Amino acid sequence: MRSIAVSVILVIFIALLPALTVISSLSLNVLGFSLLSGWLGTGLIAASLLLMIRDPYWASWFGGLQQMYRWHHGMGVLGFVLLLAHPLLLAGHYLPLDPDIAWEYLSPLNPQSINILGWLALIIFTLGMAATFVLHLPYGMWRRFHMLLVIAIALGLGHIWSVSGFSISLTAALLSAAISVGWRLLRADRGIGARPYEVSAVDHPAEDITEVNLRPLARPISIAPSQFVSAAFFEGPHFQGCGDFHPYTVSHIAKDGSLTLSIKALGDCTQHIQSLEPGVAVRLQGPYGNFLLDRPIAPEVWIAAGVGLTPFLALLRSQSLTQHTEMFYVHRESESVPYEEELQRFATNQALLCFHSLSMTNDLTLLFTWLENIDNLNKKQVYLCGPPPFMAKVTKWLREHDMPGQQIHFEQFDFR
Ligand SMILES: Cc1cc2nc3c(=O)[nH]c(=O)nc-3n(C[C@H](O)[C@H](O)[C@H](O)COP(=O)(O)OP(=O)(O)OC[C@H]3O[C@@H](n4cnc5c(N)ncnc54)[C@H](O)[C@@H]3O)c2cc1C
Repeated sequence: MRSIAVSVILVIFIALLPALTVISSLSLNVLGFSLLSGWLGTGLIAASLLLMIRDPYWASWFGGLQQMYRWHHGMGVLGFVLLLAHPLLLAGHYLPLDPDIAWEYLSPLNPQSINILGWLALIIFTLGMAATFVLHLPYGMWRRFHMLLVIAIALGLGHIWSVSGFSISLTAALLSAAISVGWRLLRADRGIGARPYEVSAVDHPAEDITEVNLRPLARPISIAPSQFVSAAFFEGPHFQGCGDFHPYTVSHIAKDGSLTLSIKALGDCTQHIQSLEPGVAVRLQGPYGNFLLDRPIAPEVWIAAGVGLTPFLALLRSQSLTQHTEMFYVHRESESVPYEEELQRFATNQALLCFHSLSMTNDLTLLFTWLENIDNLNKKQVYLCGPPPFMAKVTKWLREHDMPGQQIHFEQFDFR
């Protein structure tokens, strides 16, 4: 908890730094507020980039990647709103004095470089934000649109430089943006420093799921059940992986450091992984996530949808339960359900586990009927894992049935 508080304070301090270094020179009028909103917006956006670097240590100090992304979004949106307010306030200051000057600050036709840079930054920023919050784009396209934000930030910093040259405030924002973007591109996306592994075995527990065993070729990643890694598959004897890093929860951790991933064919890269073979080179980063770590001592309800089973599977494969656990495995299959037999065996051997396998479509009525029949449901801790629409529906139902928010824990198989 202390590390989370320290990390949050550090990020807020970095976000405020550009504004703090200029605040004493600002006058207490609309012009002063306009400059303050510009500096606060710049600081927030530059510092929000520190929260997208996907570094395992940084993420664990911050309370997990999901928490980091929530802050990243919150700070980005607040920063964007402040940046939109900056030219409006500036024009508002000059409007009573001279409407022509006021219009010059807003007009996209003003040919001064400072104006062009500011306008371009705002337009590109708006496109990047729309791609994130308004348009429901496929992941790859969303990512390319999101990268536009880096160009918008560079143009925005250029706009500041053309107004006031280099200053401590600009340097603070520039440094935090440059370090974050460099770190993300080199470490997380290019995988510099990622650990080398090799595919040692491949199995197919279902038509669209590949179970992959990974043997470490150097010091293995130290990981706990329910955590996930970022994995990239490269070359093998007859296989060429897509080489991009994608997050997968480990479904088994062996004593020698070998890891198992259970990968469902969802898009291009995971579809291709279905034809994986032993000998393929893999690089892993992590560990990430804290989903089933440090759980309160209380009866539990687990709800897994499809391949969202993996964190629960990893836990059951590694240790015996210590709390009464009602587990629901929601899937679309009516026969040959992946891992069902193994889960039935866990339930037979462990009195604390009560297992239900529910074959369903998008209609979750069957699950909700089961949940309604659980005694004292709202005194239990609920753990959910699966695709975002499923989680949203189940969380809504739980909240409508008086389940306190702090008793609902989830791992979402999507990062945006
Ligand atoms: C924390 C976490 C744990 C996961 N664990 C598993 C697992 O154990 N087994 C499993 O089969 N799948 C897991 N996933 C989902 C898996 O990462 C995606 O299915 C995979 O990345 C799809 O890639 P694609 O190119 O085949 O498909 P795409 O069409 O590119 O993506 C399909 C969907 O996968 C997600 N996705 C794609 N790329 C990424 C990325 N780089 N980072 C985050 N999300 C991405 C997006 O939601 C996207 O809409 C997990 C995801 C997360 C966030």
